[in-house]
Amino acid sequence: MEPPANVLILGGTAEARELAAVLDADPAVRVISSLAGRVRQPLRPAGEVRIGGFDGPVGLAGWLAEHSITAVVDATHPFAAVISANAVAGCRDAGVALIRLARPGWQPAPGDDWHPVESGAAAARLLPGLGTRIFLSTGSYQLAEFAPLPLWFLLRSIEPPHGPLPERCQLLLSRGPFTLAGERELLREHRIDALVTKNSGGPLTSAKLLAARELRLPVVMISRPVNPDSVEVSDVEAAASAVRAITG
Ligand code: NAP
Repeated sequence: MEPPANVLILGGTAEARELAAVLDADPAVRVISSLAGRVRQPLRPAGEVRIGGFDGPVGLAGWLAEHSITAVVDATHPFAAVISANAVAGCRDAGVALIRLARPGWQPAPGDDWHPVESGAAAARLLPGLGTRIFLSTGSYQLAEFAPLPLWFLLRSIEPPHGPLPERCQLLLSRGPFTLAGERELLREHRIDALVTKNSGGPLTSAKLLAARELRLPVVMISRPVNPDSVEVSDVEAAASAVRAITG
């Protein structure tokens, strides 16, 4: 019998964990998931797990060769642009197939009042015109651009935030999924005027958008970074098929 093909999943998302479970059940595949190590108690995927960076694309290419990896699935978050670019360069240099698993972005629906922007800095510039009490649900990094604003913020993230924070803010450490009832209550309780989010996509954190629509609140939607070229699939099933097409 052929030895199993080694597949690396660059993870940190629900889709990455789902894919690891699917591939781990396949005896023809040995799956290794890689996590950045940002979250202290990460949800562990099925199969083998390694934690920490690779030291850039050159380090990643070396790691792929050393571990005889046949295919890489970049299933990282749509906003994790550095590791995605590293995956393209590292896989190219190591001659390893790369599949990008990216969940579709959220789309506005009737009743939504979305304000699309390209960056957190652009979101910060827009906020003073939208209200004084802001729900900032963009995670624990890159909050510095909001720090100088004379507004009140509800900050929600899994881990405590890094860097300077707005003077007037309340911190809510919490991990999704979130429900519509819970999000509606949160927006009401804190008398939120506007919400800021990244266009992460997926069902786990989308209830805040439904709650904002119900309450007719503006949503500042930070657009996704553009990813370099790679074979792209949008769901776990398609990613598993693409892996099997490569590993045979
Ligand atoms: P990033 O800015 O794209 O990457 C920064 C560095 O972190 C990379 O250069 C790499 O270090 C390391 N890294 C990132 N993901 C890694 C992984 N899966 N395995 C090993 N090393 C990894 O990443 P980020 O936006 O900080 O996100 C970090 C992780 O959190 C990702 O795995 C992502 O899926 C998850 N996440 C991110 C967000 C978000 O909004 N950005 C939201 C939810 C989950 P080296 O250069 O040393 O290899």
